[in-house]
Amino acid sequence: MLRCTSRVRGPIALTILLAAASAVGAQTPFVMGGVTAAPGTLASGSLRVPGGAGDEGTDIPFTVIHGSRPGPVLALIAGTHGVEYPPVLALQRLPTWINPQALSGTVVLIHVANMPSFLARTIYYGPKDGQNLNRVFPGRRDGTLSERIAFVLTTEVIDRATHVIDIHCGDGNEWLRPYSYWVVTSAPDVVAASKDLALAFGLDHIVIDTERPNDPGASVYLANTAMTRGKPALTAESGGWSRTDEESIARVERGVAGVLLHLKMTASGPPPVEHPVWLGRNEVLRSMFTGLLYPMVEPGQTVAQGTLVARVTDFHGNLLEEIRSPFAGEILYVVATPPITKGEPVGFVAERATALPAIK
Ligand SMILES: [Zn+2]
Repeated sequence: MLRCTSRVRGPIALTILLAAASAVGAQTPFVMGGVTAAPGTLASGSLRVPGGAGDEGTDIPFTVIHGSRPGPVLALIAGTHGVEYPPVLALQRLPTWINPQALSGTVVLIHVANMPSFLARTIYYGPKDGQNLNRVFPGRRDGTLSERIAFVLTTEVIDRATHVIDIHCGDGNEWLRPYSYWVVTSAPDVVAASKDLALAFGLDHIVIDTERPNDPGASVYLANTAMTRGKPALTAESGGWSRTDEESIARVERGVAGVLLHLKMTASGPPPVEHPVWLGRNEVLRSMFTGLLYPMVEPGQTVAQGTLVARVTDFHGNLLEEIRSPFAGEILYVVATPPITKGEPVGFVAERATALPAIK
């Protein structure tokens, strides 16, 4: 603590104080969406997505928990897809137990990234443009509504963060066991740090994703947008099937607490997962037909090559297709409601990895 003495007063003392403060990296206010969070406080507001052709734009509600000390800027994003509720509900709870006075760094909570889809209760696609928000990153300033949402998230959130977690679950029609994606196609240091994020988040199944684009101008996915910009990131999945179960919500909270400890933003939290199941080869199984879907497996189920995953019939009950697992593995999610459209996912199967990829 620096005190004013009788020999050092007024402007000189202030100068010394400011110099001392900057030397230890004092925390400065965090401004977002027109609201200011002072160090050690919390502030909430909305990011405005301007209107475009045929729509009035939308708002993205956020909360900033701004620590009293400097540190990482961790962005947590929920509601990228409209009927994925446990992440949204988990983020509602975080301000009740993340204490800004005891926090190093800043947590940015994006409560509902895709408000049009959330309010219209649409799975996969935005109601105005029929686009999947998590396929249009980094977005466009003058694009469709989904592209404009992506642009605001990229420029106002991802660009300001040091670490990003995009928190999903099975969409309204998807029955899912928890897992996360570790993307290995970005810069080695980012890939290594992203692996640590996945371990800290604690989900015990981790898909090694080798197929994400590495072009920042066409990053497609939210978390990949962060990674192509040099920021460690993670996509996590907990819950699904339109449910709001406590277990799935608590799993997200636990994951965030683990990441906060890992990034040294808090002094305590749960440990990283020690022996996760690493999943290598993976495939989204898709229907070749439009009709009625009958799932034949459950998430978490081990399947052999050729195991029947789902049947598709036409609307008169005639069998159109039997969808079988192309290899032995584990079912991570399966579509569990009857509507199925040609080309849409039916389920996701992944095989245990025998070795982790070398990070070069
Ligand atoms: Zn999703």
